[in-house]
Amino acid sequence: MSGEQLGFGFEEMPRRLYTCTPSRLNTWLDCPRRYRMTYLDRPAPPKGPPWAHNSVGASVHNALAAWWRLPEHERSPAAAVALLRRGWLTDGFRDAAQSARERDRAAEMVERYTARLDPSDEPLGVERTVATRTDRIAVSGRIDRLDGRGGELVVVDYKTGRHVLTSDDARGSLALALYAIAAGRVLRRPCRRVELHHLPSGEVAVWEHTDESLARHLRRAEAIADEAADADAAYRDRPPVPRPRSGEAPDHAPFDAQFPPRPGNLCSWCDFARHCPEGREAAPRKEPWAALPAEV
Ligand code: SF4
Repeated sequence: MSGEQLGFGFEEMPRRLYTCTPSRLNTWLDCPRRYRMTYLDRPAPPKGPPWAHNSVGASVHNALAAWWRLPEHERSPAAAVALLRRGWLTDGFRDAAQSARERDRAAEMVERYTARLDPSDEPLGVERTVATRTDRIAVSGRIDRLDGRGGELVVVDYKTGRHVLTSDDARGSLALALYAIAAGRVLRRPCRRVELHHLPSGEVAVWEHTDESLARHLRRAEAIADEAADADAAYRDRPPVPRPRSGEAPDHAPFDAQFPPRPGNLCSWCDFARHCPEGREAAPRKEPWAALPAEV
């Protein structure tokens, strides 16, 4: 049955539900060209080399997730160190010595962090996927840890980067707010508190959302999704564009109206900078280990 038979004109047809993760929405905000190369171009353009800081982050996240999956009596700081060492990821480091130094630093981080945890304080979820939808978006994502405290849910996100985070970071995080909304709906319990656990410093940045602040984040997510969905539709309906031959730079011109580049400092960290002349001009690409703490 067509839209007109159903009683509405095409211009009033309901929008297709936009399926996304917080990361997809943030990529659209950061740079529509990067969004296109990440989510739409197929085959996707080859990415640059892996980042050492991503290896550190993934190794620490994996170790902490595995630690919570141990039987309670085995959850010791030494066990966290052993898990970290066993699952250490080595991509992106300058050499074996740098990888070993970072592994030792990460081992200290998880040891310190787990020493402050109560192993009997069972989380309600570890790396738990939650999802929710409105009439415009279907959003899903994976929460590092979901705690139950005093009848409410708390979203916990681990951070391993150099910069200490503040309550403003927790307050402004679209991802954390969407996780809180989704977790609250899935588990049918209030979920307003979001926490960023910064492992290098041991600091915890906290924000207590209100129903209004969560609703604001959701409206923002819908507005971002509307823009991205329009661009997705234009991409799907575009006339065919010849694929670049192997080794040839992609021609961005046919896409730039919907997917403009947004050159700036972040281009140094963009996985697709090698395919983007504007980005390379804006900021030189960093070495894969550039985000690690300075060696002393
Ligand atoms: S290099 Fe910069 S402008 Fe180019 S795609 Fe990446 S983020 Fe966008």
